[in-house]
Amino acid sequence: MTTKKKLIAGNWKMNGSLAANEALLKALLAGVGAPGCEVAVCVPAPYLAQVQSLVAGSPIALGAQDLSAQAQGAFTGEQSAAMLKDFGVRYAIVGHSERRQYHGETDEAVAAKTAIALANGITPIVCVGETLAEREAGRTEEVVKRQLAAVIHVNGHCISEIVVAYEPVWAIGTGKTATPAQAQAVHAVLRAQLHHAASEHAAGIRILYGGSMNAANAAELLAEADIDGGLIGGASLKAPDFLQIIAAAR
Ligand code: PGA
Repeated sequence: MTTKKKLIAGNWKMNGSLAANEALLKALLAGVGAPGCEVAVCVPAPYLAQVQSLVAGSPIALGAQDLSAQAQGAFTGEQSAAMLKDFGVRYAIVGHSERRQYHGETDEAVAAKTAIALANGITPIVCVGETLAEREAGRTEEVVKRQLAAVIHVNGHCISEIVVAYEPVWAIGTGKTATPAQAQAVHAVLRAQLHHAASEHAAGIRILYGGSMNAANAAELLAEADIDGGLIGGASLKAPDFLQIIAAAR
């Protein structure tokens, strides 16, 4: 069993301003100390430079929320992996359900983004998760396995460089968290799939839970055997809450 630190990653989504980001990060930096886990904030693209300089030399890593599947060129509105790397980006969320839902991102696009992130030394946080209709139809396993299968054999890179995030769509931003047992059951399915594909690396791959994780429920979710951290939306915008989640991840 590889020793792996848990990862607590904030997903700010499309929230923030220069002033709000500065206040949030100052509070986080004042309270984070020497965390027992890895910590990252995935910020909107216009604020990468601001947050890069605010977190420099701190235990908080910089993350992006998406990246282009293309290397460069005529792709108006997109940001390349190399550009993100220029700003010290360490993690990029890939295939978030909001991207899949509102921007039509397919499994193939998610695989291409995963590959280009890895090729540029950025760790992709690949999101998988079922909708409520899929869960109710008993299709949870099938959906998350299909989504994970798409990124499991990316060109020449070791799967162990990827972080997986299980985010049931029905739990995102709804206040309806998966119970620890519900989350663990899906994490175990994902772990078994990783074992099958890359047995020597499977134990070392972090599988985060995301979906209404907060200061009150983080500890019990993070206590589950296959939950190796969290991808946190709403609660990552409140410094005391995010700090409590970080403290729960040891
Ligand atoms: P939430 O979002 O914590 O606000 O539910 C999680 C996510 O979408 O990554």
